[in-house]
Amino acid sequence: MRIFDPHIHMTSRTTDDYERMYEAGVRALVEPAFWLGQPRTSVGSFVDYFDGLVGWEPFRAAQFGIRHHCTMALNPKEANDPRCRPVLELLPRYLEKDGVVAVGEVGYDSMTPEEDEVFAQQLALALEHDLPVLVHTPHRDKAEGTRRSLDVVRESGLPPERVVLDHLNEVTVKMVAESGCWMGFSIYPDTKMDEDRMVAILREYGTERMLVNSAADWGRSDPLKTRRTGDAMLAAGFTEDDVDRVLWRNPVEFYGQSGRLTLDAPLDPGTLFEGNSVLRGTPA
Ligand SMILES: [Zn+2]
Repeated sequence: MRIFDPHIHMTSRTTDDYERMYEAGVRALVEPAFWLGQPRTSVGSFVDYFDGLVGWEPFRAAQFGIRHHCTMALNPKEANDPRCRPVLELLPRYLEKDGVVAVGEVGYDSMTPEEDEVFAQQLALALEHDLPVLVHTPHRDKAEGTRRSLDVVRESGLPPERVVLDHLNEVTVKMVAESGCWMGFSIYPDTKMDEDRMVAILREYGTERMLVNSAADWGRSDPLKTRRTGDAMLAAGFTEDDVDRVLWRNPVEFYGQSGRLTLDAPLDPGTLFEGNSVLRGTPA
């Protein structure tokens, strides 16, 4: 089974995770820019984080045979903090970089006027830089947040096929399916969505425009949830081709719209940077 995790925060994960992911079939991933779990207090904090997402982290992933890409944005939560607002001026520079395959995560957290403004501005940036967009849907009041997100996307002039609405569930999937946008699902150990519910949604809505991710981060999460969903699909009677479509070809098609995916030569873990201890990341 070949797997592309379209949403996972590897900066918060260990090398053990990279090894287990490779073993499970993960060969590529996208790491969306998001918050730290606590507030950032200056723009410099974003600069270092963004540099890591296009520098150190892809390099770290490559050592374990995994292609790393990222998305860049001012996340919805920090859109409310005036100290973080100048990040919007930094973004155009990062949106030009190789390995940046979308604008995201954007969208709503608490649905404030500040979030409205930052969301719309970043959709305009996506249009300007010709990039797809990853939209986070809020955890509270998800249905209303999703409806409003779809309105903002419609107003932006972005074609729906260039937008994914993520963290969907049984309540929100229908309106996104009808919008023409892509549908993203985060499979978690004990909240939101699990692999069996995911299989039921795939039965009802089919495999087209469907993205399944682990959204693993610094909270309780599981970077192998993509694989577990693939296994659950097979157990439920989906074919290997269906699984390949959902776990590989769909994310390739969606993020491929950036023109920046690098999936050509397969990586061979361990041998890639042999003989160069600096590149191998050996601590100085
Ligand atoms: Zn996330």
